[in-house]
Amino acid sequence: MRTISAPWWRLLPIGIFCGFAISITGCASASPTVSGVIDRTAPAEDGVRLIYLGTGGWIFERGDDQVIAAPFFSNPGLLKTGLLPIHSDLDVVDQFMSRYDVSRAQVILVGHAHYDHLMDVPRIALEHAPGARILGSRTVKNTLGTWSGIGERVDEVNDIAGDQKTVGTWLRYGPGVRIMALRSLHAPHFEGYTLYKGTRVRALNAEPRWATEWLDGTTHAYLVDFLNPDESVAFRIYYQDAVAPPPVGFAPESIIRERGVDVAILVPATFDQVDWHPEAFVENLQPQRVLLGHWENFFSAPISPADPLTNLAHFENRLERVFDGEWWKPELWTEFRFPTR
Ligand SMILES: [Zn+2]
Repeated sequence: MRTISAPWWRLLPIGIFCGFAISITGCASASPTVSGVIDRTAPAEDGVRLIYLGTGGWIFERGDDQVIAAPFFSNPGLLKTGLLPIHSDLDVVDQFMSRYDVSRAQVILVGHAHYDHLMDVPRIALEHAPGARILGSRTVKNTLGTWSGIGERVDEVNDIAGDQKTVGTWLRYGPGVRIMALRSLHAPHFEGYTLYKGTRVRALNAEPRWATEWLDGTTHAYLVDFLNPDESVAFRIYYQDAVAPPPVGFAPESIIRERGVDVAILVPATFDQVDWHPEAFVENLQPQRVLLGHWENFFSAPISPADPLTNLAHFENRLERVFDGEWWKPELWTEFRFPTR
């Protein structure tokens, strides 16, 4: 019989997660939580659809162009994540991902390589989105390595990412989508401590077993442009999957001067570990609308309504002080339809 041993240092994250969870629950929130369909398009107008998959997961689509961001449904529990091996729950992934046809997705965005952003990607890339490239860091590529069957499908962005002062390389995915990675950082989870920190310089030939083996690597945010046939920008999305300390994580100012973003997807969890998140991002991105992502407790099965992972009221108050536009906190499967410009 096989026994599972958990050395002391594997227990550290669960202590931290537990402390985190205990310190943050029970906070009422007055946020515009939404579910179902939020439609801002005119009748018969073909807009852009953004569908919330929970945690860092989204589908962005316009016509035949489709982008997936960090889909995650397995949601191992808190104790299991801290004490036991974890793995992608293939049945759960298939059940949830089958709700939408993502077979034409051109790309899957991965902001960093923690398990809640990457662990379910192999199943989805192999079974649901077989033509999609995977956009991520060198650590994302090396973590997927040779065992996953999709390591060769990763487009590495470490050396081509942009930042506040530098325009990065636009990568084209099909005729109607271009994407620029942006240098970012992963804010600490708790008291300045970031879980599962590190980079991978060699390709893994076996699947990571423990949460601690899904090292974050370099973190990236992304600008996603849906393009018109004349190459003008029809719709621009800023996507982050971790809180970042501004100006790290900013889009290039020269790009935003030409055109702000239509939607900024911002993460509220652990925002208080850095200064001026979200205010600085609103100023940098000039968004028309803001959506909150990765806000719920992902240690329980993905459900709606979900428990918040953190005290969102403080984040929301600060967002409202600097942002006049519409913003929402979507429940699982919420679908937004926005007009192109
Ligand atoms: Zn993370």
